[in-house]
Amino acid sequence: MSLNSPLPQDQWRIEVSVRWVDGWRSRMLSVDEVKAYNQDPDGYVAKVIGVSVADYTDWIEHDGMPLCGSKTKAGKLCRNPTGCIQMPIEQWLEQHRAHYCKAHGG
Ligand SMILES: [Zn+2]
Repeated sequence: MSLNSPLPQDQWRIEVSVRWVDGWRSRMLSVDEVKAYNQDPDGYVAKVIGVSVADYTDWIEHDGMPLCGSKTKAGKLCRNPTGCIQMPIEQWLEQHRAHYCKAHGG
């Protein structure tokens, strides 16, 4: 007699830490989900949260802070913030490059 029984593979869960705007976020993935994650980790996370890889990457790189929608005299996108840091991605997507900083009339 054994006290414990084998766990079917469809019940296996693996904890995966994914980059989030405030550091890392843990997610419990099934074996199949881990296989999909390993094919394209950033693409998998972007798909799960419902955004493009470019938006997910920009959100992390800008620490969830929306930036000005104007350009500098040199023609580069302005890097001045127009909101606070670590916004949820839905809110950040609405505000990123959608408003102007004080220097650009905001
Ligand atoms: Zn600006």
